[in-house]
Amino acid sequence: MSSRCIFSEDLTGHAPSGDVLTHCRRELMHAIWCLLLDDEFLEAYEHGIVVECQDGVFRRFYPRIFTYSADYPEKVLLATIRNLGKAPCPRCYIRKEDIPDLGTVRDENKRKNLARTDDHMHNGVLPRIRDWIYRTGRSVKSTTFDFWLLARSWTPTSNAFSDRLSKFGFDPFKMLVPDFMHEFELGVFKSFFMHLLRILHAHGENAVQNLNQRFRWVPTFGRSTVRRFVQNTSRLKKMAAWNYQCILVCLLPVIEGLLPDAHNDEMMDVVFSLAEWHTLGKLKMHTDTSVGWLRTATKELGRMLRRFQRVVCPYYDTRELPSEQAARGRRQAKKASQGKGKAPSMVVRASAKKKEYSMETYKMHGLGDYAPAIPWVGTSNSWSTQPGELEHRRVKAYYARTNKNQAVRQISKLERRETALLRMAARARSKAQRLGGTKSTPVAQGYRKQAKNTQTYLSFAESEALPYTIPSQHHHISSSRNNSIHLSSWLKQHKGDPATKNFLSKLQEHLLARLAHPDWTGDGDEFTDAQRYQLQLRNSRMYVHKILRVNHTTYDVRLGQDVLNPRTHSDIMISHPFSYPQVLGIFHADDVNTAPGSTSSASSQSMDFLWVRRYRLDTSWRAGFKRKRLYRLEFLPDSDPQAFGFLNPDKVIRGSHLIPAFAHGKTGDRLVGDSIGRLPRDGLSSDEDWRYYYVNFFVDRDMYMRYRGGGVGHYRLEIPVEEDIPGAEQAADDEGDGETPEEPVPSTSESRSDQLPDPVNLTHRPDSPMSTHSSSSGLPSDKSDLESEPGSDDEGGAGGDMDGGFGPEDGDGDVEDEVEEGYAPL
Ligand SMILES: [Zn+2]
Repeated sequence: MSSRCIFSEDLTGHAPSGDVLTHCRRELMHAIWCLLLDDEFLEAYEHGIVVECQDGVFRRFYPRIFTYSADYPEKVLLATIRNLGKAPCPRCYIRKEDIPDLGTVRDENKRKNLARTDDHMHNGVLPRIRDWIYRTGRSVKSTTFDFWLLARSWTPTSNAFSDRLSKFGFDPFKMLVPDFMHEFELGVFKSFFMHLLRILHAHGENAVQNLNQRFRWVPTFGRSTVRRFVQNTSRLKKMAAWNYQCILVCLLPVIEGLLPDAHNDEMMDVVFSLAEWHTLGKLKMHTDTSVGWLRTATKELGRMLRRFQRVVCPYYDTRELPSEQAARGRRQAKKASQGKGKAPSMVVRASAKKKEYSMETYKMHGLGDYAPAIPWVGTSNSWSTQPGELEHRRVKAYYARTNKNQAVRQISKLERRETALLRMAARARSKAQRLGGTKSTPVAQGYRKQAKNTQTYLSFAESEALPYTIPSQHHHISSSRNNSIHLSSWLKQHKGDPATKNFLSKLQEHLLARLAHPDWTGDGDEFTDAQRYQLQLRNSRMYVHKILRVNHTTYDVRLGQDVLNPRTHSDIMISHPFSYPQVLGIFHADDVNTAPGSTSSASSQSMDFLWVRRYRLDTSWRAGFKRKRLYRLEFLPDSDPQAFGFLNPDKVIRGSHLIPAFAHGKTGDRLVGDSIGRLPRDGLSSDEDWRYYYVNFFVDRDMYMRYRGGGVGHYRLEIPVEEDIPGAEQAADDEGDGETPEEPVPSTSESRSDQLPDPVNLTHRPDSPMSTHSSSSGLPSDKSDLESEPGSDDEGGAGGDMDGGFGPEDGDGDVEDEVEEGYAPL
């Protein structure tokens, strides 16, 4: 900083103004890119470089830049546009006030017809403006320049990509693809969710407390797909992008019934649209069909959000959340301490400011660019900033281990050490494999509880050997015999429990049927009593297991694995559509055979089986993609002979995420009393179940594709309750679609370039070069057209901040008394 000041003072006698510094920062970014895009690179870009490949063949490679993933402030720098200007998009000239048209035909046309071009850099406008700044010393923020630059939010910065690569037809704006993590999860969805919280606060009636409690009760899913929610989700403390993803996929059952009926329905529709858009936008494998779905989902999402803003929002007096209010107080206090704002005593925290939902954000506009971008540059996971952002955590974790003194040096040492350890581990593994070592994972010895087990599942503390599951196996259950149930004594213990009614005969039927015809199993009365009594199990015992691993092929042709256990992940799906049991126990029995007294190994075998409690689909509930509701299940009543039964693990497709329908309360009538057939769950006493459960098909993308159809090998099945809603198509768009695209933003550089005076004829010299506010002469000075734009302050740039507040780019920031032009902070 000091050297810069000396330079400027020597030259001009003044310290550089903030505008000059900002201009220099912008220039710096492009100057560095000019160094990277040097002549050697251009040579390679044009003629290719010959590289000897690993297979000994020489090949010619052409380096190309397809995408540049960055968050908004960085995109702004790269596109040489103003931060949050009148035309905030780095890819097109769309005006801020037109952004809420998201998804309409008009909006789609604008994206195509108003794509940004770098014409002003080549037709003489920008070079002349730069000439004025550098040779005649005009202010970088001169209102004269605004006349040519402001309407399209350009800055007087020369674009390195345009300068160096445009001769090859390179488009420096097309590469600035939207950014899923910052723009949807931490942008559009976060701002929607915060507004939802404001509405719940305004509504009162413990809605926020209920929301927190319900989130806490949402079951977990997968290894880390849905983790347990924190006690107080509504505080939004330390939330990263994946926290918002979890909130979104579980939000439907959680918000049901928290608002009055009319608004509840609207709210559910918006959340469904958001969840669907999120899933489609994040698919890792796309086809023309799924891109079409994404396009439709974008249109629907735009419509739903406009409706939300029009119908629901005005009804509530939405105020700042307590956390926002506190943050504002802190900001004001900070400003006051720097002498910029009111004195600290004037900082009033008393009243929360009114907040309205805004759709006029660049992030909202970005949603429309996914469907066109995906066929062009591939699926969004390959250009998301998420991998890069996650890497920040690694450095932060290292930093915590340093003593903060010369941290960089310590961090690099730690990184080297970790790499060395990883290499040693890899060497040890390959050595062990060469020596033919065992594949099994080591199992902690010691704690081993014998028999006395009356539960059908094992606690977390039990250890059970279950080695690596080979990918070609459908499922995998341990062969351990540590824990067993002696059938007759166990049944005696649970006599009278409706869950164990006909337990033995059902088990015998199941096993006999599988012995007789391994390809299919029935739950019926296939065998006589005499045949059933012939079935023998070794020691009359079944062995209890902790987990069942199931391999499945995901929609993007990868191997997925679900780990199921009755303790936490008990819900499974067995056949499409809608057959859902809850796994009460994972068992195997040894030496299953039908010859009395026989111990010959020829006819005996081990068999795995699951004891399950069954759900049924609630057909009275209208659900599906058109209705924008999740399917709903209930437990079969215990009087139904099918309520409990056995299942061949071969039938399991994968785990299922069932979320209780909190709004419909609890019931004790599905299974009377305290029973072995009911698994303990959060929020329920030992004689209660939830009345209904929702099938969460948004939980991961594979699950969605199973219901939507369209993945490889996932044939679509007609779902009985999905039917057309009369009049739905007519209601589809009430926002005047299909109009001709409007004229672009006013005053284009082409039309005005001829009015630019020739630099040679410039006789006027401003009093002080590089002054902040020069009054220009002989040039248009229509002030009404040239107001400065409000811009972001420093807090506003925290796009990638994991738990940071909102910036103005979310339509939510404090820009009130900052009339400075917005510059992207570096
Ligand atoms: Zn755009």
